[in-house]
Amino acid sequence: MRIGYGWDSHAFKQGVPLKIGGLTIDHPEGLAGHSDGDVLLHAITDALLGAVAAGDIGSFFPPGDPRWKNADSAIFLATALEEIRNAGYGIVNVDTTLVLAAPKISPIADRLRDNVATLLHLEPHDVGIKAKTPEGLDQDHVAIAHAVVLLEKLDHSDRPRRKSAAVDTQANIEKVVRKLLEESAAQPVRRPAFDTEDIT
Ligand code: MG
Repeated sequence: MRIGYGWDSHAFKQGVPLKIGGLTIDHPEGLAGHSDGDVLLHAITDALLGAVAAGDIGSFFPPGDPRWKNADSAIFLATALEEIRNAGYGIVNVDTTLVLAAPKISPIADRLRDNVATLLHLEPHDVGIKAKTPEGLDQDHVAIAHAVVLLEKLDHSDRPRRKSAAVDTQANIEKVVRKLLEESAAQPVRRPAFDTEDIT
């Protein structure tokens, strides 16, 4: 298993569409950035890259490169997914927190979760979307995103790792039980120091 963490911030700006989690959200302002400014996808991209120690979003997509001008951040996320797959890992789950004064995220949290899950090829229950307002931070004109991801090593046989892990665990349990039975057969019966029936 490996863990990754990502963080990003973008300032709000008039005259650009607001993109968060791959969705275009109806709001008077968008987020400034060389790409589409999708603060949430940038944080998740960095978390994925960090989990396999593959650098960060800036090392893959330098802000000075004209190719990434107004780029769809889903491209960055897809590249990070490829990196973790190349390293032999798959995602267990992702959790995120957005910090922004507006717009309110709770009415669109389900849509955000579904869209991020689709982009990551996960089920919605493997994606956490949470939001806070920046109380006391004096940052009402900024959107911040935090993301953590948990990865697991993929099985070479392409079977889900959890299944083979479960089989391994069952085999281990049987081995331990067999060993305990052999040991208890070899040893004289020990009487308990007290009668457990008396304990209430
Ligand atoms: Mg960014």
